[in-house]
Amino acid sequence: MQTIRHSEQTLKTALISKTPALVSQYESLDAGERRLMNEAFQPNSALFEPITLHSESDWITSHPEAPQDFEQFFNDPKRKTPSPEKSSIYIQSIGSLGNTRIISEEYIKWLKGYCEAFFYGLTVKLLEPIPVSATRCSFRVNAHTQNLQIHTGDILTFLKRKKPENAFCVVGITMIDLYPRDSWNFVFGQASLTDGVGIFSFARYGSDFYSSRYEGKVKKLEKSSSSEYSVFDNYYIPEITSVFLLRSCKTLTHEIGHIFGMRHCQWLSCLMQGSNHLEEADRRPPNLCPICLRKLQCAIGFNIVERYKALLRWIDDEPSNKPGVTPKHSREGNVNLPKRVEAFKEWKEWIMKCLAVLQK
Ligand SMILES: [Zn+2]
Ligand SMILES: [Zn+2]
Repeated sequence: MQTIRHSEQTLKTALISKTPALVSQYESLDAGERRLMNEAFQPNSALFEPITLHSESDWITSHPEAPQDFEQFFNDPKRKTPSPEKSSIYIQSIGSLGNTRIISEEYIKWLKGYCEAFFYGLTVKLLEPIPVSATRCSFRVNAHTQNLQIHTGDILTFLKRKKPENAFCVVGITMIDLYPRDSWNFVFGQASLTDGVGIFSFARYGSDFYSSRYEGKVKKLEKSSSSEYSVFDNYYIPEITSVFLLRSCKTLTHEIGHIFGMRHCQWLSCLMQGSNHLEEADRRPPNLCPICLRKLQCAIGFNIVERYKALLRWIDDEPSNKPGVTPKHSREGNVNLPKRVEAFKEWKEWIMKCLAVLQK
């Protein structure tokens, strides 16, 4: 195992920069927020650790990229920022997400709530769920894994057409695996930063995808029925366990982070680290390092304490106490599924440690 350890000075410059205007912008932040972010360059910080590499197939080794510090993010002319007119994140589910309507509905509400806390200050809205057929996308059976896959480019074109006027971005989520072009085996997701659209699949996040008893295998697609979307009816959907929920929350926030113009993080252990395979994605924490946190705060303008408290409320399953939102008393006959948050225990403890630093 290899550790990427940057010097204190490197991390400090990546976070604060040396440009006077950005230094004074940093100094105008709340004292508690600076205390937390300064943990980035404290050796032996209990909150932020260096990145570790575990194998040759890890992202940084296999995809060398230029790092992006706060200043580069701030000065990126192509970066898109939410504005009062375009301040909503829309989530479009494509195909069923759960094995029952109630599971699908609850799961997407959990994701919505999580994104709303993570991108605190923005509104997250759900578009009416649609079947795969509504997108008119191409699809295929993967020759190696024998599961159904849908074409990312077609879905992105569809989402771009559907993008509401007040949308900062629209992200599609699906339980069907994705492929970007015929020669590729699969892709976890794809986004167009200029168009503010993305599509992400959680198909490979189930516990059984890579096992021999995976039930999503399709024998053969009849040639004549290659445009026949009925193959997606009752197609296999992985069970939404607590680990599955954590994986999907992490993926969604990482990918939406890219739409804000955040590149892969090479500074500290961070949600924005690239990941090449599931084990590496699991190793990546759900939190942003201070450098990425400053980027997101600069784009959205949230108070960091309020944001962490919102994340805690989501984990604790408390109704949001945003002004104007009254908790629903009538459940319209629906049974409310308890949110599966066992896998979020460490994340919760970490947030509480941050709040202690912020509110010292
Ligand atoms: Zn990424
Ligand atoms: Zn980071």
